[in-house]
Amino acid sequence: PNNLYGASRENSSGVDWGNPQQLAEQIASLQKSGELPHAAPSTLVGKIESTPHEVRNPANLSELVGYVSAASKEDIALAFDKAGQARKAWDDAGATHRAACLVGAADKLRAHRAELVRLLVKEAGKTLPDAIAEVREAEDFCRYYAAQAREHFAEPTVLPGPTGEDNKLSLRGRGVFACISPWNFPLAIFLGQVTAALVAGNSVVAKPAESTPLVAALAVRLLHEAGVPRDVLHFVPAAGKMFGEVALKHPALGGVCFTGSTSTAQFINRALAARDGAIVPLIAETGGINAMIVDSSALLEQVADDVLTSAFTSAGQRCSALRLLFVQDDVADRLIELIAGGMNELHIGDPSLPSTDVGPVINQSAASKLEDYSKKVTQKGVKMLKQCDLNQVRTEGSYFAPRMLELNNARELTSEEFGPILHVVRFKRENLQSDVLAAIREAGYGLTLGVHTRIESVWQEIVAEAAVGNIYINRNMIGAVVGVQPFGGEGLSGTGPKAGGPHYLFRFATERTLTVNT
Ligand code: GLU
Repeated sequence: PNNLYGASRENSSGVDWGNPQQLAEQIASLQKSGELPHAAPSTLVGKIESTPHEVRNPANLSELVGYVSAASKEDIALAFDKAGQARKAWDDAGATHRAACLVGAADKLRAHRAELVRLLVKEAGKTLPDAIAEVREAEDFCRYYAAQAREHFAEPTVLPGPTGEDNKLSLRGRGVFACISPWNFPLAIFLGQVTAALVAGNSVVAKPAESTPLVAALAVRLLHEAGVPRDVLHFVPAAGKMFGEVALKHPALGGVCFTGSTSTAQFINRALAARDGAIVPLIAETGGINAMIVDSSALLEQVADDVLTSAFTSAGQRCSALRLLFVQDDVADRLIELIAGGMNELHIGDPSLPSTDVGPVINQSAASKLEDYSKKVTQKGVKMLKQCDLNQVRTEGSYFAPRMLELNNARELTSEEFGPILHVVRFKRENLQSDVLAAIREAGYGLTLGVHTRIESVWQEIVAEAAVGNIYINRNMIGAVVGVQPFGGEGLSGTGPKAGGPHYLFRFATERTLTVNT
């Protein structure tokens, strides 16, 4: 039955590598050549600028993947004007209609999976398993939010009242949502934000990340084809700063949904507070210095596997990724050895090959930032336990060798390093509270936390103390599944509500109570 937690739907299925037809279709798509895609602001139909920017493959910078034309300030303002005019009819059309558009979009995502995977691999450097999982997640967001909207938004809730009065509570859109999404999930997070805002009755101006406009542009096209009116959903590739200057001051703005860095979320929050007029909410999902705690009862082979997955999948470019591994001192040497052994086996390289575990980082500047960080801390005495070999990797790509560093004290790590860098710190059992849980608390983030122990009271003690949004016991700590592990943090890691969870849509809506004296 439909209810708040289990709106009936199924999660999408993956590509079956054992099925020759599915495999052949995916490989053919990766090799496809032809006209390159061109992402352009949706307000600019028919008048694309003549010198667009080039989008290049981070795994091979000599490969041109497509073009993007950036929106001007006027384009952004026009998108908000048009979305503002279109929003009421969309809100009035009702949640059942809007949910049907999302289900239509989910079907289209499935039908275009091979092409979406190709763009994720070529534009964002995603490995094939990551890209396939991302298309699935995007499809899941569409179906999950459609089911939630049908359940909670389609009909007003009838409330009890004194005889002679009818009371009804309905959920309506807030206006135009500015959706600002990151390059690390350029399809799933982009679409998750946009579809939640749309189905709740808002119109949307969506800004893709600057590095990944092409897959987002295709997603917008599919939503339009599925019935979302063009003026209800605008696409504006633009520099973040310029977008913010126009969007955050625009009178039609009804809300902001942002995923990215904590500092940018804080900047948006301040800008919204300084606005004149209506008070506009911010939904923000930001980063974390995510920890895993391993005690001496843990199954170390499984821990090593889960650490490799959590720290190095997607080249560590997930906000859920493991950054700081706390390991009880009596098993530390053994675990470090197992992890280092696993790092020897990682296949780093071309993300379009099915055998690749770790692809490139998003661009050269990300690679140099990580390199500078690593150099700086090792010069200051942080020990390099292991660095992967990049000999087999193309020099024309923005690759960064995964590495494992050892800290003396967890408090030495003060910033989220967004890449495949694992920090290890040893702790003594008697100092679990003071050296581990207090350090996590003091850092102020609260996104993901992993725990490996075979003693139930240990993980219960940790869970009771940790102010963290997603906690994983005895498994890896990435890849939250829509409708199963609602995702999002607290403190410096975000405002909530959780993406892919049963409370998400409500924050995109306003509530109206209607009392009729009969
Ligand atoms: N939801 C993703 C996960 O659980 C992370 C999303 C992000 O990096 O923002 O791994």
